[in-house]
Amino acid sequence: MTVREIYQSLSYGPAPESADLAHAWLDGFGRDFRLFIGGKWRAAHSGTSFDTFNPANGKSLARIAQADAVDVDAAVKAARRAQKKWAALGGHERARYLYAIARQIQKHHRLLAVLETLDNGKPIRETRDIDVPLVARHFYHHAGWAQLMETEFPGCEPVGVCAQIIPWNFPLMMLAWKIAPALAMGNTVVLKPAEFTSITALAFAEICREIGLPPGVVNIVTGDGETGKLLVAHPGTDKLAFTGSTEVGRILREATAGTGKKLSLELGGKSPFLVFEDADLDSAVEGLVDAIWFNQGQVCCAGSRLLVQESVAETVLAKTRARMEKLRVGDPLDKAVDLGAIVDSVQLERIKSLVEQGCREGAELFQPAWSCPKDGWFYPPTLLTNVAPAATVAQVEIFGPVLVAMTFRTPDEAVALANNTPYGLAASVWSENVGLALDIADRVKAGTVWVNCTNQFDAASGFGGYRESGYGREGGREGLWEYVKGRAGGTVVEGLRGKSQPAPVEAAPPRMDRTHKLYIGGKQVRPDGGYSVTLHLKHGGTAQVGRGNRKDVRNAVEAARKAQESWAVANTHLRAQILYYLAENMEAERALLARAIADTTGDRDGATAEVDAAVACAFHYAAWADKFDGAVHRTPFRGLNYTRPEPVGVVGLVCPEDPPLLGLLALVLPAIAMGNAVVALPSQTHPLAACDLVRVLEASDVPGGVLNLLTGPHAEMEQDLAKHDGVDALWHFGDIEAAAEAERLSAGNLKQTWTGRVLPADAREALRRATQVKNIWVPTGE
Ligand code: NAD
Ligand code: MN
Repeated sequence: MTVREIYQSLSYGPAPESADLAHAWLDGFGRDFRLFIGGKWRAAHSGTSFDTFNPANGKSLARIAQADAVDVDAAVKAARRAQKKWAALGGHERARYLYAIARQIQKHHRLLAVLETLDNGKPIRETRDIDVPLVARHFYHHAGWAQLMETEFPGCEPVGVCAQIIPWNFPLMMLAWKIAPALAMGNTVVLKPAEFTSITALAFAEICREIGLPPGVVNIVTGDGETGKLLVAHPGTDKLAFTGSTEVGRILREATAGTGKKLSLELGGKSPFLVFEDADLDSAVEGLVDAIWFNQGQVCCAGSRLLVQESVAETVLAKTRARMEKLRVGDPLDKAVDLGAIVDSVQLERIKSLVEQGCREGAELFQPAWSCPKDGWFYPPTLLTNVAPAATVAQVEIFGPVLVAMTFRTPDEAVALANNTPYGLAASVWSENVGLALDIADRVKAGTVWVNCTNQFDAASGFGGYRESGYGREGGREGLWEYVKGRAGGTVVEGLRGKSQPAPVEAAPPRMDRTHKLYIGGKQVRPDGGYSVTLHLKHGGTAQVGRGNRKDVRNAVEAARKAQESWAVANTHLRAQILYYLAENMEAERALLARAIADTTGDRDGATAEVDAAVACAFHYAAWADKFDGAVHRTPFRGLNYTRPEPVGVVGLVCPEDPPLLGLLALVLPAIAMGNAVVALPSQTHPLAACDLVRVLEASDVPGGVLNLLTGPHAEMEQDLAKHDGVDALWHFGDIEAAAEAERLSAGNLKQTWTGRVLPADAREALRRATQVKNIWVPTGE
């Protein structure tokens, strides 16, 4: 044998991390865990428990308590008792506790990493080098936000008691993403870990005890989906934060509709990994390995769809197959293993059956020549080619080590394919052409875009979805809005309402009867049903307003969708100018608009003041159109990590009855200022101002379809809006019961909802609601 042959035939010896420490720790609890409530370990009320397994060998690691309604209630009450005092401690004191937690996590780094690997099956290299360090980082970073809360979130207070439900793929990291921001902002929590992976959450509870965290601030209730349901249904919480499947996310949306609880959802994905012909192909393939085989592909933002430009497709696939042959699947405690085990046999079966279905639908399967260990729940890295964009495996989240590959020819086609799922969690773009890469990053619908990199996470950079990947962000300043609320205050318009001189009103002669139409796609159109509603005016006479129906809603949404595409990319200076000009036109029609209000309200002075406030409101949001910035985050990442607040899309507005004009414009203006298109249902009792606003709009430069106005009874139309898949957000102000129903119906495509009885208190909140944050990561250097 030559030296060369020896080098080439060298095989890996085992390099296991010792699990002794972790086993001793488990033994210390008798491998039989209780619940952590009010700072104490307590037995589950029902006395039932279940096994948690080590996926690498299928053996039980410990028994986990199954919390029932009594336990959940005790935990919520403990959190409630603790909350006021925790908030009253102040940011600095809370910062000290969070800092202490971060320190303990670092101190127990090895224990936590090994426990996580044992319970979840993920490689020790990942728990040791990624999960646990990011957990510590998250608590340090949020210790900082606790310290800064008073100055950086003036006028904000904690939400209260937070129910938090997490999945099994990053057990401790998901816990950190939930608990750190909640505690920093003065909330207390009841957290339910996933049934497959409860152990590190219980280890975290021990840390809370060790550092003397006040009892009840953190409560951990273990159990399966049944426990989750009980926690969701408990009326004693103020907020619900969930990470997991889109199906369960929908259930939670419906369950919390109308309760007034804050809701954030981090759901599934089918994230594209885009490789252009001018990419550094070797780097791209390494990136791809990380994107889809990190954590066995059990990652919500896994780059599970490879979209590669046709000209380089064969090269990239050949390199990928070669790389797959070299990956190592095996004992997750082995430091030289690339892929560990699948979390549970249920998940393993799910992966197998989806891959079989893919093959039945015509996909070509590639798996490496070697085979996986047989004694645990292992699945090899898998590549499916010859996949149609509509195939099951191209649409459904597999949540396993399975990559699906498709090709594109042009950048436009790449974007179309990338956006061709209901999801929008993340995307990875590979090209050496910075202009192309950043352009694609802008156009892909996803909460996070990695340029020439993948799987970058940091506590200072918010993470979360677009579309059916959910809403709300975790991390950074943008994530903290999920855990604060504004102190009760006035309305958005209060600060804007100047002292106005009543407009001179001619002794109003009785009006000629007028018939108003609907306003769709920039045109006045007759309602589809041909009906109108008759209004009896205070000063005599009548007016007819169009009565919109389902078909009108459909037409309006279609017009809005069409208009929104170009409105979204219209430059911010142009949008500002258009809004200023709209304000100017409203001012010119001050008497007309005031009279339209007073025609049904009878209050002429109030009407004039309202028009003036509406003009001020238009100025206000025109001002913000080019100023509501993103940020460049100071993550430890070498390169540029910046956010873009992007429009949500089409916003459905159900306006309050009163004030008639301002109730419409205080919602419309922030939405369109940020690049959304709107379908609005103005006040039912006082719709005339909206009708006359149409004339103002026609004289303005607001493009047709950006604002659509449908008059008539809300009842049916608002439900149609709430159900419509072409509507991305629904804002509902006024009738609380109707808002609850709208929230329930919004679950279909998980549209973002914003509801309230009166107009919102905070003009900035409207801007935040009108946008969603995209985080873009661009590395610099070699
Ligand atoms: P899941 O959504 O069912 O479970 C997530 C968490 O929710 C767990 O703690 C679970 O106990 C709890 N839960 C389940 N049903 C509930 C209910 N009705 N009410 C309240 N809580 C409930 O996810 P899963 O069953 O573990 O995995 C199924 C699929 O979900 C996966 O194959 C994958 O596609 C997806 N998933 C996504 C993520 C993510 O991070 N986005 C994480 C895990 C799983
Ligand atoms: Mn387990």
